[in-house]
Amino acid sequence: MKNVLQLTLFEQIQAIRGGDVEKEKILEAYRKQIRDHDSELRAYITLNKNLMAAQDGLLEGAPLAIKDNMCTKGLKTTCASKILANYVPPYDATVVRRLKEAGGFVLGKTNMDEFAMGSSTENSAFFPSRNPWDTARVPGGSSGGSAVAVASREAVAALGSDTGGSVRCPASFCGTVGLKPTYGLLSRYGLVAFGNSLEQIGPLTRDVRDCALVMNIIAGNDEMDGTSLEVAKENYLAYLEKGVKGFKVGVPRDFFGEGTDEGVKEQVWKCVHILEGLGATWSECDLPTLNYALPTYYLTAMSEASSNLARYDGIRYGVRQEDEGLDWTASYSRTRGKGFGPEVKRRIILGTFALSAGYYEGYYLKALKVRTLIRRDFERLFKQFDVLVGPTTPTTAFRLGEKVDDPIAMYQTDIDTVPMNLANIPALSLPCGFVGGLPVGLQIMAPPLAEGMIFTVARRIEEELGLDLRPPL
Ligand code: GLN
Repeated sequence: MKNVLQLTLFEQIQAIRGGDVEKEKILEAYRKQIRDHDSELRAYITLNKNLMAAQDGLLEGAPLAIKDNMCTKGLKTTCASKILANYVPPYDATVVRRLKEAGGFVLGKTNMDEFAMGSSTENSAFFPSRNPWDTARVPGGSSGGSAVAVASREAVAALGSDTGGSVRCPASFCGTVGLKPTYGLLSRYGLVAFGNSLEQIGPLTRDVRDCALVMNIIAGNDEMDGTSLEVAKENYLAYLEKGVKGFKVGVPRDFFGEGTDEGVKEQVWKCVHILEGLGATWSECDLPTLNYALPTYYLTAMSEASSNLARYDGIRYGVRQEDEGLDWTASYSRTRGKGFGPEVKRRIILGTFALSAGYYEGYYLKALKVRTLIRRDFERLFKQFDVLVGPTTPTTAFRLGEKVDDPIAMYQTDIDTVPMNLANIPALSLPCGFVGGLPVGLQIMAPPLAEGMIFTVARRIEEELGLDLRPPL
């Protein structure tokens, strides 16, 4: 049998069921991998030291990594922020509960940009994570730790959250599959809010089948989340068997604009031609609102963040600074001044500005209107096409330190991922090749709730490519 660490989640379950390996042995192998590599890669903030309780159920004790902005009962949930450095939630996020009930084991909580604000994990208040393909480079963000864990075999699968690309960007940089589902398909109950009208939790996995499997377990209505959709449960695994014959594929030219690496473009086009070879048809199209996506996203996300992060006052949650003799405003300012990092402060200040009287119409309201135009732009394309494809990010992983002092350059990493959050549509990043030894992500987009079609397309391409996605550890 293969080294257990190289098994996908699906294969691991089969191996356990077939009596080829014991669940405890698998957990041990993962813990050893973490001991051997995580002091360098730093995927995890907190490890779950507990023994695996008798885990029955579909997942057979699968060792899973959870981004540190999802509540885990009894296990620290810091959002990679000093302000929550000692926060231990009294409950599980719905998606975490569903994984546990299906027999999953939470191996640990993964590093991220503070409060999910960033594209490299360098905004973590604790330490950056490193890309296992080249440790001088970032793993992407903000769910960087989750992508590193899956790629480097420090977890069999993971969850991240995606407000503007935070699942897809690190998936693309680290060579894993990453899905941002349709807004409302997964419960956000227990996900620490950053930009609540934009974000969705999503799986990061070794292959497309594992992604479908995790979605089968965590998708579905939740009465604890008022934005959760009431849709019938689907079996996503069934879509993996289908073909793409007759599928209409749109390739928006705007995704190949300035700043997009030539090597990345080539890999994406290679996939378009694979689909063509399998009987799909394709044509180029235009998504002119892509030009407005970044400012629209950042105004929306910062405005929502300024409101969501008002709850961190040091009184109800997390770390409170020494405030002897101070009145509440001074105590509150001191706690927030010391507890939040520079990027989080920048966003709270800009977001508060965009929402304030006299500026609201010019900024926040305008962003909402442009958001509607972006959504309509996608609706128009989905009248002509079943799916759209393009790169997940304009480049492969950049160097640590390269963009961290230049917020605008960092924000530009998200140009191809934020439009789908604004339009609330599903999008998946699929490893589709390498440029200079670094993984490239193909992004596949579909109309709301058409995750199944994305899985069909992704699976067919994955099968044709047959890439070896093991980083050189
Ligand atoms: N990089 C984007 C940001 O900084 C997206 C973050 C995310 O998806 N959570 O806002």
